[in-house]
Formats: sequence, C-alpha cells, structure tokens
Amino acid sequence: MTPRTSSGTAARQDELAANLAEVRERIAAACAAAGRAPEDVTLVGVTKTFPASDVRLLAGLGLTQVAENRDQEAAPKAAECADLGLTWHFVGQLQTNKVKSVASYAGVVQSVDRSRLVRALSQAALREGRTLRCLVQVSLDEKEGRGGAAPADVPALADEIAGAQGLELGGLMAVAPLGEEPRPAFERLARIGNEVRAVHPAATIVSAGMSGDLEAAIACGATHVRVGTALLGGRSAIVR
Ligand SMILES: *Cc1c(COP(=O)(O)O)cnc(C)c1O
Repeated sequence: MTPRTSSGTAARQDELAANLAEVRERIAAACAAAGRAPEDVTLVGVTKTFPASDVRLLAGLGLTQVAENRDQEAAPKAAECADLGLTWHFVGQLQTNKVKSVASYAGVVQSVDRSRLVRALSQAALREGRTLRCLVQVSLDEKEGRGGAAPADVPALADEIAGAQGLELGGLMAVAPLGEEPRPAFERLARIGNEVRAVHPAATIVSAGMSGDLEAAIACGATHVRVGTALLGGRSAIVR
C-alpha cells in the first residue's frame, strides 16, 4: 500500500464528506416519506476493509457510530482510534473465543444469535467491568444462510440477554435475505420487534438496512442503518 500524502488525505476527506452528505440525505428523504423524524434513525458506518485513517476522517466529519464484522480487523482499528470517543458495533459472526477481545472495545454487539454467546458475553462484560448492549440477530432467510436466530427462538434469547449480568438488551438486528424483496422481510422483523418490546419495552433498537436497502428498512421502522459501501466505496468481492 502506498502511504497517503496530505493531498491524498484531503481528497479522501472530500470524498467521504460527499458520501456522508448523500447518505444523510437518503436517510432524511426516507424518514420524510415514512413520516418519521430523521433524528430517529442512527447511521452506523461499516468500516470493514477500510483503514483506521478513514475512520478518523469520518469521525472528524461527525460520525459517532462505526461497525466492524471481524475481531482480527476491528481490535487494532479500535485501538488506533481510541482517542475519538466512537461507539464500536460488532456486526459479524462471533466465535466465543473472540468474545473477550470484542468486549474490550465494542459498545454494542449486534450479532447475538445463540445462548452460548450470551453467557460468554456476560462473563466478558463482567470481567471488563462494562455494560455491553446486545442485539438479537434475527434470521429473515427461510432458507438460512446469513446468520441469526430463527424468529421462534428470538423471545427466549431476548429474555436471556435481559437477565444476564453485564448485558443490556438493545433490540434486534437483521440482514435482508439475498435475492428477495427486502420489504416483506423487514416487516417480519418489525413484528418480531413489537413482540419483544411487549416484554422488554426498552429494547427499542431495530438495526436493519444497508447501502442498498436502507429506504425499505426505514419505511419498516428501522432505528439504525448499517452503511458501508455508500459511505466508503466498494470492497473487494472476497469480503462480501
Ligand atoms: C458489510 C455489512 C454491512 C454494510 O453493507 P453495505 O452494503 O456495504 O452497506 C451491514 N451489515 C453487516 C452485518 C455487514 O456485514
């Protein structure tokens, strides 16, 4: 990789500023169309595969929430950006042997999809002396594949998180199924969210919507959108 010159940094800053403005406009337009206030939707920038220097530039442009999906990449990036006061969201498949590391920098773990993970996260949070906000990742894919708990298992998992020391139940997260209209899937997610909130009223987060489908997610009540490509540009195909 060639080191960035200061003019390269300025160009990248301009590019990120333009992208950020465009994403914020899309969010505002989708909120207006849905009769929602734009401040009801939180933008989480997904910085996977992009360098810490980009995270730093985005923070300078006012972004406060960033997400990563691999601990090996996230841990050093979060350490490099520790002075920025960002909230780090973990959004990838999480192995229990990575939980201790993730609990040291993440404020939100969006991809909680099984009991074993709840127990590991609780232990790690207690050891770190911090509270981890957890979202239940829901599988909206009837054919399975993109991770997450089956809808039928979500209420029990939510109860477990709510009852675990060191954890706080924030709500739900999902990825729209591939090759389907996202909207019916996001509507299913909204219904599950209503069921969870009937028992856990504080679990208000619905994290749904990415670069390609944030409008559909906002129309269906998403409170958090996770945007990578539209903010930072394309990634290599290998990483998805
Ligand atoms: C990569 C990723 C995103 C962002 O996807 P884009 O299409 O690049 O906006 C959102 N959520 C999760 C879980 C991801 O892994």
